[in-house]
Amino acid sequence: MKITLGTGNEHKVFEINTIVKSLGFDNIDFVPAPKGFNPIEDGDSFEDNSFIKAKEASLMTGMISLADDSGLCIEALNGAPGLYSARYAGSQDEKIARVLNELDGIDNRKAKFVCSMTLVDKDGNILHRTKGECHGQIIKERKGVNGFGYDPIFLPDGYDITLAEMTEEGKNSISHRGRALRAMLEFVDKL
Ligand code: IMP
Repeated sequence: MKITLGTGNEHKVFEINTIVKSLGFDNIDFVPAPKGFNPIEDGDSFEDNSFIKAKEASLMTGMISLADDSGLCIEALNGAPGLYSARYAGSQDEKIARVLNELDGIDNRKAKFVCSMTLVDKDGNILHRTKGECHGQIIKERKGVNGFGYDPIFLPDGYDITLAEMTEEGKNSISHRGRALRAMLEFVDKL
């Protein structure tokens, strides 16, 4: 079965395909969204935005489509950057610098990554939704070079290395995206 992935983030496509292969779902083939895919993510929640992206992908391709929307929610910042995780500053380095700056002098470093996934049919109607979370702490300095986004400053609960110090497999086994995707694949497998 071929499913379009509603994302322009190449690293996400790679992460998702790595998880799919590692779980042995050889019958499911995720293909990237076509050129020109550029939905307006103006939803009020991760759920809404994942639906907007999945629907746009299905309307462009006429195929079943899957999209995720994810972000980092920091307790002491009232859930910021949250929906604005991708737009919190210019470069990724500046986004991390902003988070570290805003948490300067704050003891509560609790944070979570959240991922919402929506699967739609070829006409953009919702087939299934899943959600995954990964809880942890924001550390004071960047550590590690793997992964993407805020991974270098995120220490998952129960680990003494950041997401950016983990292997792709290690991250996928505990990540918000890994959890949401595994639940989604169980549904897709029965279609
Ligand atoms: P998106 O809108 O789902 O593409 O993700 C929003 C932003 O959240 C990304 O640009 C990253 O800054 C951040 N983010 C989402 N997932 C991760 C992750 O697994 N690691 C680090 N940052 C992430």
